[in-house]
Amino acid sequence: MVTQADVLNALRQVVDPELHRDIVSLNMVRDVEVEGNAVRFKLALTTIACPLLDTLAEQAHRAVAALPGVEHVGVEVVEMDPEEVRALYQAARNNGQAKGNVPTVFSVDPAKPMVQSLARQLSPIQYMVGVTSGKGGVGKSTVTAMLAVSLRRLGYKVGILDADITGASIPKIFGLTMNINATPEGLIPRQTEGGIKVISANLMLRNPDDPVAWRGSRIAQLITDLWRDVIWGPLDYLLIDFPPGTSDAQLTVMMDLPINGVIMVTTPQELAGLIVRKAVRMSMDMKVPLLGIIENMSYFVCPETGTRYDIFGQSHVEEVTRLAGVPLLARLPIDTELAQACDAGRIEAYRNPVMDGVAQSVDLALQKERVRRGT
Ligand code: ADP
Repeated sequence: MVTQADVLNALRQVVDPELHRDIVSLNMVRDVEVEGNAVRFKLALTTIACPLLDTLAEQAHRAVAALPGVEHVGVEVVEMDPEEVRALYQAARNNGQAKGNVPTVFSVDPAKPMVQSLARQLSPIQYMVGVTSGKGGVGKSTVTAMLAVSLRRLGYKVGILDADITGASIPKIFGLTMNINATPEGLIPRQTEGGIKVISANLMLRNPDDPVAWRGSRIAQLITDLWRDVIWGPLDYLLIDFPPGTSDAQLTVMMDLPINGVIMVTTPQELAGLIVRKAVRMSMDMKVPLLGIIENMSYFVCPETGTRYDIFGQSHVEEVTRLAGVPLLARLPIDTELAQACDAGRIEAYRNPVMDGVAQSVDLALQKERVRRGT
């Protein structure tokens, strides 16, 4: 009868063509079980979308099936988590055996100075703006998308780094299907019909439910990796859609990356005073200018009667922002047309003059800040 060792030995004949090492030493073979003449094992790949999936699974299957006495072989392909992927490429590189074809996003060494990344050198970015919120579901991603569309209409080159791993809203709002498109030089973002470049952190996750339990430092690392290893090309604006909450992740990212300003999205349901105070504190702690607050789902205007309803109660955001000296960039109504455009992935066909105005004020504020700093 074959043993686990026989199976592993047989699988050592299968070599990953990108990493030039056998799949056993790369720790891609897991949970080998032998029961009579049946063998089962898992084959862990960097991504289920791996173009080599069929080849590797087939070769692994064949190698084990060739063992004398084996009649049934079950190969279950599973996906590695980002930590495992990083460890894999690191191990391959340490052995000096990885020959190109390694997506740099997985090869980031935190100690490596950021300027060394080729993707970064190819991607000069004029302004980076973070969009945050105290909690989920307030329309942060929707606002990020609308701001990107309005900035694009101003003629700017715009990218979105969708770092909100609690939900992949950005690709959906733009009607993009995303999968990882990696080259040896870095990751290639998707492009919307209107020419906005998009990358979503969700692509890097094995299971979208995982990040709920993720610590801030891991999220921060993921965002930093994406910033460093995506080939955006030259951009005027890179908008970062942060995960909700004033977490460690935001603090770390805002301190580590050259973020020029941050916008906070809130709703009347949240305590305006608290949210504004938090936003001001965050901005001061991180020395990143708070560009302003956007109150979303502020009210509803009945299309038939024109009557305005404060569905979530009366808003105090105007008063609070005035007292705190923070710009109130906009109060956006609940808009069924907007919700439909997002659902249909057609945000670029939706025009919002208020957000066009926000884009102009943000642009002006950042230009003034740049002149003030003399950079
Ligand atoms: P967040 O990023 O804060 O979690 P989303 O941007 O994903 O929130 O928005 C949550 C839901 O609310 C989405 O279905 C979106 O279409 C809808 N939505 C956001 N803003 C508005 C609005 N002003 N009017 C109507 N629906 C909205």
